[in-house]
Amino acid sequence: MMSLNKLRAVILGVCITALAQFSTAQELSPQDDPAVQRVEPFQVFDNLYYVGAKWVSAWLLVSDQGLILFDSLYGELTDLVIDGIRELGFDPNDVRYVIVTHAHFDHIGGARRFQDEFGSVVMMTEADWQMTDEPAIYQEYAKPIRHLSVADGGTLNLGRTRLRFMVTPGHTPGVLSTRFTVYDRGYPHVAFMFGGVGLNFSGVERTESYIDSVQRLQQLPDIKVNIPNHEGSGEVFERYEILTDRRDGDPHAFVDPESWNAWLEILLLNAESKLKNEREAAGIN
Ligand SMILES: [Zn+2]
Repeated sequence: MMSLNKLRAVILGVCITALAQFSTAQELSPQDDPAVQRVEPFQVFDNLYYVGAKWVSAWLLVSDQGLILFDSLYGELTDLVIDGIRELGFDPNDVRYVIVTHAHFDHIGGARRFQDEFGSVVMMTEADWQMTDEPAIYQEYAKPIRHLSVADGGTLNLGRTRLRFMVTPGHTPGVLSTRFTVYDRGYPHVAFMFGGVGLNFSGVERTESYIDSVQRLQQLPDIKVNIPNHEGSGEVFERYEILTDRRDGDPHAFVDPESWNAWLEILLLNAESKLKNEREAAGIN
């Protein structure tokens, strides 16, 4: 039989464990906390709005046949997206498609809610759909139902809006990037969303495919606007500040092909230095 003291110790141990779980469930990290992460949603182009959080972005593209959402965020941050859509005067039930840039929790985590609550169709690459069958890498999320797989060169037409897709692997095996048109007071510009930028992955081959992806983006001749899936990858908030002070005749703060090209150059240099390290670590000269 268990002694009384031992029993007490066991009960105390269980209570402490339960308490620890309770406190981690209650206290959100600043990254996951909607109160910390809230950004008032805002319009950037005639047909494009920011509905994301501080550290991770979501964008709403408006067509004449409904809405397209880029990335769903995750956890309670998905509420920011849904509330943001409503605050802007749109109805989340009109979100026809959710384009998931890659299958990390911060982009895919709320996709299931859009399927269940608003009947949205979720689009992702085959390689990243496969990631959803495996254990989540950084943080758990509700697995979306497998809807549409997007191939390199694929398109999506919704009313008069057309998206052109590229599969740009590296950050994940099937990063999805999108080219689309934004309008500034009716004037069209080609915008691009590079779906996975960070170098937080490993392996020589993956690094090589990242480099290949960036080099493919450098071949695109007509990109004028960088629409990033983390605001820091395109100084979204800084540019928006400038945009709010815009006077007649001023250029649009997001139309900036020079910094798009310069940014790709930096991504390429960083990836090349990573490749050098990866090759050394793998014993390849
Ligand atoms: Zn990621």
